[in-house]
Amino acid sequence: MPDQPATLRRDTIDADPDMATLLAARPHLRMDALDGLLFEGVPLQHIARETGTPVWVTGAGTLRARYRRLAEAMREAGLGARIHYAIKANDHLAVLRVLAAEGAGADVVSGGELMRAVEAGIAPERIVFSGVGKTAEEMRLALRLGIGQLNLESAEELSLLSGIAEAMGAEARVALRVNPDVDALTHAKISTGKAGDKFGIAYADAAALYARAAALPGIVPLGFAVHIGSQIATPAPFRAAFERIAALVARVRESGHAVRMVDCGGGLGISYRDEAEGSPRAFAGAIAATLGGLGLDLAIEPGRWLVGPSGVLLTRVIRVKQDGGAPPFVVLDSAMNDLLRPSLYEAWHGVVPLSAADAAGPAAPAHLVGPVCETGDTLARHRTLPLLTDGAAVAILDTGAYGAVMSSTYNARPLAAQVLVDGERWAVIRPRQPVEALWRDESVPDWIGPASPASPAE
Ligand SMILES: *Cc1c(COP(=O)(O)O)cnc(C)c1O
Repeated sequence: MPDQPATLRRDTIDADPDMATLLAARPHLRMDALDGLLFEGVPLQHIARETGTPVWVTGAGTLRARYRRLAEAMREAGLGARIHYAIKANDHLAVLRVLAAEGAGADVVSGGELMRAVEAGIAPERIVFSGVGKTAEEMRLALRLGIGQLNLESAEELSLLSGIAEAMGAEARVALRVNPDVDALTHAKISTGKAGDKFGIAYADAAALYARAAALPGIVPLGFAVHIGSQIATPAPFRAAFERIAALVARVRESGHAVRMVDCGGGLGISYRDEAEGSPRAFAGAIAATLGGLGLDLAIEPGRWLVGPSGVLLTRVIRVKQDGGAPPFVVLDSAMNDLLRPSLYEAWHGVVPLSAADAAGPAAPAHLVGPVCETGDTLARHRTLPLLTDGAAVAILDTGAYGAVMSSTYNARPLAAQVLVDGERWAVIRPRQPVEALWRDESVPDWIGPASPASPAE
């Protein structure tokens, strides 16, 4: 290749993927000349028209296909690993039901998530309870329901659980979540396996704590758990973490304790822009190479990889605000209260117009922002997109994970509607929240008095 000037090369590397490239990498999405953008078999324009915007759309067929790819990779690597879907990524009952029907269990991080998973029909023995701050009440709930496993993150938590289980006459099956002190090579806000992160038991303390767990009443230690972070693209950090866990298993076994199980966590990344998608095969390969030959029951806890690409957020342009010679601000009817990721993590999401005519228009630079009164309320900055006019509808791609679940009602914006697509069918799975619901549970103490003061001094 002839040498190019450095600036040109840089532009080439930094250029956003174009729409055709984005769609080619997402087989569940297709631009039809008449119907516009199709999700599985459903024209997204129909959904936007009938439910209004903003609306989250999840593809059941896409969810199933991704689950099967992951399960197949585990099987091919010779791992009988159980898949516990990390429901915090998207905890809608319909999503849980689709994945449970494929064989998924659940990884939960609160009593609320535990009850949600059970409500969706997931058997308690297929649920793992993770998280750094389980309360005594949550532990009692988990034991009462007969939960499969609790992943413990501290000596303090272990002591509390032992006391609770003993008092209830229950046996708590536990894994110790270990902080392996590896760099997950991901965004600092989603790294969880470095020394100094709040998660897990320090690697150096794990063997001794396991021995202690084995001696405590009410506790049945099964093994170890590890989860080093999220949106991890390459197998190297996983491999480094699993090697550390394999060494720990060997050491603990040598000291005479049984270790039956290792929970390998989640964290497999997806391709939002042009980064490589985390490969289920490479992930399974990293597990097989490190923990495969040890006679362990294995489990994984994927969240983002399963649901991220399986969802889009549909939104409309309220108006285009020109900004002198600078790129215009395209003000959308969705905002950071709906999709927080761009504001929180500077996340990049693809944007595709729903109508084929809009998609074919001439491209120009633009900033896509929401109406919320925060400078950080941007959904896509510095994009080159087809010219969008008032009323145009677009899909924000790959919003199935950490999307709707992170929504708030900031600026008194009701929660957006949700729709499930399944092949040619679709249904509303959560109506748009009525605005009155925002204050329905609020009350004003009597002593505050009426809003209009008694008429001024008479
Ligand atoms: C969030 C979380 C997961 C899922 O992470 P993803 O990056 O979405 O796969 C798995 N396990 C635990 C303990 C988590 O906290």
